[in-house]
Amino acid sequence: MHILSKSTYIKGMQCEKALYMQKKHPYLRDKLSLEQRAKFQRGTDVGILAHEVFPGGIDMSPNSPTQFPKKVVETRENLSKPEVKVMYEAVFQYNDTLIMLDMLIRDGDKWIAIEVKSSLKLSDTYYNDAALQYYVLQGCGVPLSDFRLMYLNADYEKHGPIDVHQLFKMESVMEYVKEREAFVAKNVERLKNVVALPHAPLVNIGVQCNNPYPCDFQGHCWKLIPKNSFLFTTALDEDTLFNNYFNGINTNEKMLRQLEPDSWEAQQIEALGTNSYYIDYKTLYALAPSPKPKSIAYLNLLMHRPAVPEIEGTKPYEEMILAFALQGEHESEGAFVWDCFENHESWKESINILIEKLARYELIVCFTPQNLSTTLMRHEIIQNREVGYKILNLFEVFQNARFFHPAIKRGLTLQRLAEALFPACKLFEHSRIIMEATSNDLMSYQQAKEDLITENEMVAKTYQQFFK
Ligand code: SF4
Repeated sequence: MHILSKSTYIKGMQCEKALYMQKKHPYLRDKLSLEQRAKFQRGTDVGILAHEVFPGGIDMSPNSPTQFPKKVVETRENLSKPEVKVMYEAVFQYNDTLIMLDMLIRDGDKWIAIEVKSSLKLSDTYYNDAALQYYVLQGCGVPLSDFRLMYLNADYEKHGPIDVHQLFKMESVMEYVKEREAFVAKNVERLKNVVALPHAPLVNIGVQCNNPYPCDFQGHCWKLIPKNSFLFTTALDEDTLFNNYFNGINTNEKMLRQLEPDSWEAQQIEALGTNSYYIDYKTLYALAPSPKPKSIAYLNLLMHRPAVPEIEGTKPYEEMILAFALQGEHESEGAFVWDCFENHESWKESINILIEKLARYELIVCFTPQNLSTTLMRHEIIQNREVGYKILNLFEVFQNARFFHPAIKRGLTLQRLAEALFPACKLFEHSRIIMEATSNDLMSYQQAKEDLITENEMVAKTYQQFFK
């Protein structure tokens, strides 16, 4: 059996303890968020589509981890069969490290290795993944003419069926992975020794817990840190927080003594201590709509950005409006919901409906990390910012007014805001609504519409609490 894989190597490079826990105590891992699950699924779907660039290959994917040794042998056998030109998910093992390669293409008496990414550009993480794969392939004696990363072409526009040759771009990383070989070899040895330890390495919590990825053992490692610890403030960067922490400033009281009494940082720590919220009311009221609007609508837009374009004339990750909920006095029974869940092609119908409906209000209130005016302009729902109504984005208002509550220590979302202000009203992760809305299931569509309205009601309640 193997000791390391691509994912455990990456984990170990972030934190040795995370690697050890993953190998020896995986049951202590935190639950994956819906957003992370959706990301994995997107990667798998794009990877399968990429096979069409080099069709007719043999799929080596194992049905279960127990099949890895068998697949390693089959992959090796296939390398020496001249009739095998392409392999998908070929499995290799060298120095107790196992990898699966998205595509391996015969190129004369050598092979081209290809790793597929579902993103529009490449990052260091992808280069580092490739470096590990190259190390294993070299160790297995696979002669390579090139190592390429394949990713989505931001300029591709769909016209007719997807043209996979235009949808994907490729970049050679051969020079990079060759240069990194010695570095990878050293780290593979180091990480194998970590896994062989009789107990978890002693690693303190620190900046590595969220960098480059949020570690999924935080529930375990952070369990002794009080939920209201100053380590959860967002007003100070993590380096400063941990420097203080490891220098004996390890309680909220000690940390408060380091700060100006009325500073934002101190106010956040007070809020943590009392499980209450902090907001800069001066800024908040300066942002209040004035004069008081006579008619208010609450708008919740559900946007969809498919990695592979679904609609004619669109590009990868191009945004469309999948649904919206609008609540206001001009809507029958107070709420209106529009969606195109069953036919995404008709999404542009939302534009005229929004133009007509929004014009009947003086103020449009929403909560979105995006700039709503820019979104509405991009879709020509408004021509410029000087429209007949004002837009109040509570996300921006709360950010500017430095709203803070223990519930939003991991960043401001509507779900966490609900938890902070109205603990009895529980919202789902917004990603769940997107999953429901793109699920091909009528029951889920209904649920998505109901969830959109519930979110919007939450926005209305928040507005009324602070501005009425
Ligand atoms: S939570 Fe932090 S210390 Fe614990 S395993 Fe993860 S990265 Fe390492």
